[in-house]
Amino acid sequence: MPIRLLPETMINQIAAGEVIERPASVVKELVENAVDAGATRIEIATSGGGLTLIRVSDDGGGIPADELEMAVSRHCTSKLANGIDDIRTLGFRGEALPSIGAVSRLSIRSRTAAGEPVEISVEGGRVSPVRPAGANRGTTVEVRDLFYATPARLKFMKGERAEASAIADIVRRIAIAFPAVRFTLSGSDRMTLEFAPTDERLRRVAQVLGAEFPENSVEIDAERENVRLEGHVSVPSYSRANALQQYVYVNGRPVRDKLIAGAIRGAFADVLARDRHAVTALFLSLDPALVDVNVHPAKADVRFRDPGLVRGLIVGSIKEALAAAGVRPATTGAA
Ligand code: ADP
Ligand code: MG
Repeated sequence: MPIRLLPETMINQIAAGEVIERPASVVKELVENAVDAGATRIEIATSGGGLTLIRVSDDGGGIPADELEMAVSRHCTSKLANGIDDIRTLGFRGEALPSIGAVSRLSIRSRTAAGEPVEISVEGGRVSPVRPAGANRGTTVEVRDLFYATPARLKFMKGERAEASAIADIVRRIAIAFPAVRFTLSGSDRMTLEFAPTDERLRRVAQVLGAEFPENSVEIDAERENVRLEGHVSVPSYSRANALQQYVYVNGRPVRDKLIAGAIRGAFADVLARDRHAVTALFLSLDPALVDVNVHPAKADVRFRDPGLVRGLIVGSIKEALAAAGVRPATTGAA
């Protein structure tokens, strides 16, 4: 067969393979879009572990009628105003909506402050014409029958409960970063969450990690060469058997980063057994030019220009804070 350009739908299905791994990835992308749109209220409803339905409604700025078709087209974005080295939004790739539309039945209803409410749908990559709709200010995105168009991926899903709990985890993760936004998760999946808006980050952290977390943690607030680390880490007695409750943010973006995880482990090495893990809510802020978030389509990986500086800041500041709180290395008893 000669070389040819693949049809748009197939290109989007290929992209979806990376961006949309499971229902929780859809929730992540849609909630990120709502945050980027300046929403103060984000409501998420799911059923069938998100495979039957995911609905995300927000009261953000909405999508203008004449941009709705572009919103579901590949490489179309209203973000990235300052280029790829200065990313200040959660989204920037312009591929979430077309990817989702390629593998599910997607519909978007939206209304801007000044505009008419409109609706568009995409089914397995086929885009319908934009039509008038009834909608409040903001945007509602509905995703039905996720992966119906890619049965191979559908087979990899772990079952409704596991998918529903991954969805709840992603909502918790994003909610910590945006305390002023009200988040609700509901639906037939019986994973319900509700986080009331607050202007205090620690209060939101306590809503998510539990009311006992603040009193079982020490505060971190340190800066080195314009890189700032703030937040809380648990005292050793409040540790966990896994690292699932390590919440880490870089410039407001939830990340899963090996360097940071390793630094946290290093900081606790003297006071925590190897199979125990601290609970953390840590917020790193630095010049966006010094961190690359364009590493993987899921946008959870980052690379730092100066990894040594970041590691040193994390290890040093956590050790200092633990010592100041009177946490001493456990004696090994092998005297
Ligand atoms: P990206 O977020 O990387 O720009 P997406 O495919 O997720 O790409 O979204 C495409 C565009 O659609 C966004 O840039 C934004 O302009 C618009 N959009 C998507 N969701 C929303 C929303 N909830 N509210 C307002 N605009 C939205
Ligand atoms: Mg997006």
